Amino acid sequence: MPAFVPATRNTGQVAPERLSAPQKALRQLGLTRDIDLALHLPLRYEDETRITRLANARLGEPVQFEGAVTHQEVAVRGRRQLLVMVDDGSATCLLRFFHFYPAQLKQMAVGARLRVRGDLRGGPGALTMMHPVVHAAGGELSSALTPVYPAAAGLPQAYLRKAVAAGLARADLSETIAPECLNLIPALHACSLKEALSFLHHPAPSQSALALEDRNHPAWQRLKAEELLAQQLSQLAARRERAHLQAPALAARPDESSDSLPAQLLAALPFTLTGAQRRAVREIETDLAAPRPMQRLLQGDVGAGKTVVAALAAALAINAGWQCALMAPTEILTGQHFSKLAGWLEPLLAPLGQRVVWLTGSQKKKERAAQLTAIESGQAALVVGTHAVIGEQVRFARLGLAVIDEQHRFGVQQRLELRRKLSDQGAALAREPHFLMMSATPIPRTLAMSYYADLDVSTLDELPPGRTPVVTKLVHERRRAEVIAHLRGWTETGRQIYWVCPLIDSPDDDQPGTSPPTPSAQELRAAIETQAELAAALPGREVGLLHSRLPPAEKKTVMARFAAAELPVLVATTVIEVGVDVPNASVMVIEHAERFGLAQLHQLRGRVGRGATASACVLLYGSPDGAPLGAAARQRLQAMRETHDGFEIARRDLAIRGPGEFLGARQSGAALLRFADLTEGDLILAWARRAAPIMLDRYPALAHRHVQRWLGGRADYLKA
Ligand code: ADP
Ligand code: MG
Repeated sequence: MPAFVPATRNTGQVAPERLSAPQKALRQLGLTRDIDLALHLPLRYEDETRITRLANARLGEPVQFEGAVTHQEVAVRGRRQLLVMVDDGSATCLLRFFHFYPAQLKQMAVGARLRVRGDLRGGPGALTMMHPVVHAAGGELSSALTPVYPAAAGLPQAYLRKAVAAGLARADLSETIAPECLNLIPALHACSLKEALSFLHHPAPSQSALALEDRNHPAWQRLKAEELLAQQLSQLAARRERAHLQAPALAARPDESSDSLPAQLLAALPFTLTGAQRRAVREIETDLAAPRPMQRLLQGDVGAGKTVVAALAAALAINAGWQCALMAPTEILTGQHFSKLAGWLEPLLAPLGQRVVWLTGSQKKKERAAQLTAIESGQAALVVGTHAVIGEQVRFARLGLAVIDEQHRFGVQQRLELRRKLSDQGAALAREPHFLMMSATPIPRTLAMSYYADLDVSTLDELPPGRTPVVTKLVHERRRAEVIAHLRGWTETGRQIYWVCPLIDSPDDDQPGTSPPTPSAQELRAAIETQAELAAALPGREVGLLHSRLPPAEKKTVMARFAAAELPVLVATTVIEVGVDVPNASVMVIEHAERFGLAQLHQLRGRVGRGATASACVLLYGSPDGAPLGAAARQRLQAMRETHDGFEIARRDLAIRGPGEFLGARQSGAALLRFADLTEGDLILAWARRAAPIMLDRYPALAHRHVQRWLGGRADYLKA
């Protein structure tokens, strides 16, 4: 039996330190069960079935040819490289290797006959291949296309191919979709899961790469349908489970109306709600009045005014005699929420002997103890904090509502834990709390339908009046000095400026798990250097520095001084990204904007344009040496210049990244939707939504097997 068998079958029993490197890599890719291997589909195919004459080959495509070496040299042109000229009788091709071994010099000696496979580049008379695969000429040709699988470091294709083939042979691929459901789309009947997988893993000799990669082929249709059905099933099951849970019905008593907490809060607000806010509050109110836990996502663009909706929800809960917890991913943000919410609610709560409490990391023991007591006695009506709110010693007397702000910023694991612990808090009273999630990163409709099938969604699609649009400029890094020169003018007119330092690591915006992102040492250095650079350019002005490694108390001071307009310029790593609200700040400069994800750029830009002054966002991009930007980076910057609408931004982000990555990165690092492409239209999605209740109602055993097969241990992630 091949070496990988233990890893794929019994990963539970094999101690991690005894796994080989490829076994570990398989596990990291989530390929632990036979079925996981079977569902690991090729990324593309290589054609080793024929030999092409160079004269007939097409540029830019993978080609396999055979010919004799006519020339070989090791040249130093910038970098040391091995150059080998091969002639196949119809044309010549130059092979170029930057990494090579002495054995290769021998293998490709002048006169040797080679079989060469690689991507063909160059013009007529000057064909080239970089790092092609080279064998001696004359070996047997494969009879079918060779699959190439998504791999990882330390996982050779040959190993992966064998592992997948073994997994495919062993996996149970019996039908799990009831015929009644299959009948709804003929293409699904045309191809079973088993047929679909063997079609894609073991292409028939006659199969062209084009047919295999055509996502409209019945095999692909079948896989998409299977995957979406699994997802809809697991969410529908979760929703039904939830319908059996008890939550406190938080309805206002009929005898109170004008003097209820929410009514008092509304009257005390310095503004009137937008239509969208009123609608969202009504939806929440209806949910809260039911004896089932609410599970609602409030999505709205940056600055749409989600906080006040949360405050009204809290007031509804408190009014009905329950406590509310509000969590946000960063300490800075919880501080802002606390001052805002305490400012609104404390005057109303004080006469009732209740208050708002902020759990922070920088608290003295005694203070913390007093707060814990207040939470336990129910005197703390609203508790604001990071995930510290679910800390070991925190015991709510009557938790009725949990609000999670910027929920996508909590990692999946953290989100699951939050939910679990908050549910436990209610267990004593046999009542689950209601949940309100908030996010400024909207999900396009098709994604929301499939991905958040277990959530109800309220959308704030209207900004409060009086916002001035932010003018966005793209400026090349070479013109950095000009931007700095402008800073002085801006500060002289009393404007405040955020200067955001670059991410040094990955441009991925939605790294799960860690919030706030900790800056690397390099990032920190960049921020400190920038602070010095700007301070030198602005004599007599103070330049503040904010990064997530500062002690909490210092962060608080810096933020407070910036909010009080004592600091004209604030240099910051991305700690300011979520939720920070300083209306007088009207300019934002983002360095190396090309390294940020689109959602993140949009969030950052949302920090300005909150006051009455015209605002600007300068996206500095590129490096002084003028290296060109990648296509995706260019598209991101362009989208930023062209639109301010968070929903449009989300749509473009999805188009640039594709749903796998869009959701994968956001959710767990392991893409949950591997095949379904939700940008394409939703025929199959509509089918899955129709089939899921049929399966659950009439074929529960099949439904269970289906979800296990497709989601296995990941089903939980769909609820996070
Ligand atoms: P976000 O949705 O990004 O969390 P916030 O809740 O921070 O937005 O609101 C942004 C700003 O708009 C805050 O200063 C808030 O007080 C203000 N605001 C909220 N709703 C309204 C409204 N209806 N009219 C005027 N200003 C509002
Ligand atoms: Mg907010």
